[in-house]
Amino acid sequence: MKNTAYYLNKPGGTFTPIEEELKPLAKGEILLKTRRTSVCQSDVVIYKHGLPRIKKWPSVILHEACCEVQAVGEGVTKFQVGDLVGLGCDIPCGDRDCIYCGDNGTGDWTSCPNTQATGHEFAGFARTHAILPNWFVELGPIKKFPKGFSADQACQLEPLACGLEGMTRVNNCITDRVVVLIGAGSQSTYALQSAQAMGARKIILVNRGKERLERVLKDFGNEKTVGVIWDENVVENVLAACKPFNEPHFVMMNVPAQAGYELAVKLVGYGTVIDAHAGVKGPNGKPRIAHEVDLNNDIHYKLQCYQATHGSSMHGINLAHKMLIESKLPNIDKMTNDTERFKKDQILEAIHRANDSDSLKVIIDWD
Ligand SMILES: [Zn+2]
Ligand SMILES: [Zn+2]
Repeated sequence: MKNTAYYLNKPGGTFTPIEEELKPLAKGEILLKTRRTSVCQSDVVIYKHGLPRIKKWPSVILHEACCEVQAVGEGVTKFQVGDLVGLGCDIPCGDRDCIYCGDNGTGDWTSCPNTQATGHEFAGFARTHAILPNWFVELGPIKKFPKGFSADQACQLEPLACGLEGMTRVNNCITDRVVVLIGAGSQSTYALQSAQAMGARKIILVNRGKERLERVLKDFGNEKTVGVIWDENVVENVLAACKPFNEPHFVMMNVPAQAGYELAVKLVGYGTVIDAHAGVKGPNGKPRIAHEVDLNNDIHYKLQCYQATHGSSMHGINLAHKMLIESKLPNIDKMTNDTERFKKDQILEAIHRANDSDSLKVIIDWD
């Protein structure tokens, strides 16, 4: 049995397919055949600049994936040959006794000091086959989809999970509330559809570029969705769109730039939850972005809440899985048009397309 892995030789480099012999399955392991990978903005960043967490080059990247179970090792009962499974990116550290990732852990994998992720420390899914170790099979993040479920949707389990983590860490901030999404990229587009499914009262989408904002509004807008162009009047225009409320209840910052935070804090008012969803990383690391908060007048008396999630735990993966199989995001396929579909020998083209300012979700077909 052979696997073909597409190694990226270095940041900014090229992908080269290399055939490797697969070991026989050990107890508890499963063999997966990759069916789809979708491209994350972090893959674009890894492609351009690398990532400190990737210590070894050449490297196998791509972490948003769905696969078919091709063989199961001795003792595996959770999965059968032929199952379609979606995978998460943040994975347990592999220590069964870990207080975060182990059998009796909290499940907060990204808090583990030995945290690892597919496409980072653990090989990604730019490969035709993968063998998952027993702890991955047993602890997750791996979810089975019903027979006949769309592989295009199953590979988006992980990015959807990341958004839902941010939207559900604090209770009662989406349903019947006013939601502001900063940016109109894929994370905001998942959040928009999720907020609609969760019954938000109004959703205000803020974006600099008119083209992408129009695409998202056209395909995902409804009577509760408003688009606001991010220009010099953005703060007053967003606050006007919040009426009859004076401010939004939830602000999700989905732009990986300091300007996004500077805008987000200007929108925070009475009872606002701000979700610092997009981290900011540059060639010189993670910049300090300072903001003064009055713990008494703002946090206590105005009930403001500053929170964040990054990556996804089983909580987000389970929620995303449930929403996908219950068709709660009925328009999700519109996130990928014909210019956003590629084959496995076009990874570089796919990453370039994901880098375009008008693209939403690029999918690579491995079938
Ligand atoms: Zn991702
Ligand atoms: Zn751990």
